[in-house]
Amino acid sequence: MTKPIITLDDNFVALISAGASGIGKVIAESLIALGAKVHICDVSETAIAEFIRLNPTASATLCDVSNFEQVEQVFRDLKSKYNKLDLLVNNAGIAGPTDKVENIDPQEWCNTINIDLNAHFYFAKLAIPLLRTNNKGGSIINISSNAAFFGFPLRSPYTASKWALIGLTKTWAMELGPDNIRVNALCPGSVNGDRINGVIERDAKERGVSTEEITNIYKIQSSMRLFVDPEDIANMACFLASPLGASISGQAIGLDGHTESLSNNL
Ligand code: NAD
Repeated sequence: MTKPIITLDDNFVALISAGASGIGKVIAESLIALGAKVHICDVSETAIAEFIRLNPTASATLCDVSNFEQVEQVFRDLKSKYNKLDLLVNNAGIAGPTDKVENIDPQEWCNTINIDLNAHFYFAKLAIPLLRTNNKGGSIINISSNAAFFGFPLRSPYTASKWALIGLTKTWAMELGPDNIRVNALCPGSVNGDRINGVIERDAKERGVSTEEITNIYKIQSSMRLFVDPEDIANMACFLASPLGASISGQAIGLDGHTESLSNNL
């Protein structure tokens, strides 16, 4: 039998924001498979119910991450169940408006920044005191995007948030390093799944071309011509959370088959 390379400490506790579906769910399930105790939060009651049905050892709080009072409830639930935290995965994020900046409604702008950026501050603010009491240290993983490396036309508030997350990752790594708390960002390109499929179908319809044509336009941005599998992101998250990641902090790690720019021709 092959020995698993990644192992987690006994009684390892992880919190994943927006973890009931998508990338967060795959990260949560990968951590559970490694023996972690996992608490998720999500704004969708249906998605939480399905997640708990599939992962009965996990726990969850219904929460809109952009609402600080609701985030406080997540931490009350986490503390009453485990009173411990080893890993925070700041995963929540929405695509936000798809338009040129002058056409973006200010309310939509603020809503995107609230979910994609402010929420990560709320979670870190409440997680750090718990991580500090953990005598083995711990880590924070911010899910950014490869949009944090480039300009990304038609996605201003999303891109602003994802760049800001890299700044926070480096700042928090400096603030928390002396307490053995590591902070890193994962920067995926387009990820295989419902979100990219929906975007492709919408673009194909708007332009009257095939979904294959639109898929190629997106894939050509990656040197490896690929969309990332959520499992690749989860594997990197587990690696960083484990003792194998012990010396890695303050990094923004691209998971996109290498990209030099995000195309302007979409
Ligand atoms: P998703 O759209 O699949 O949504 C995942 C979960 O987020 C859902 O269960 C949803 O209910 C929850 N959610 C949405 N708004 C919420 C809120 N206000 N409060 C709490 N939960 C909320 O997301 P995804 O595609 O898995 O993306 C996860 C992260 O990865 C995001 O930060 C995203 O920006 C980033 N990312 C995604 C891609 C991609 O192609 N999917 C690429 C790069 C980066």
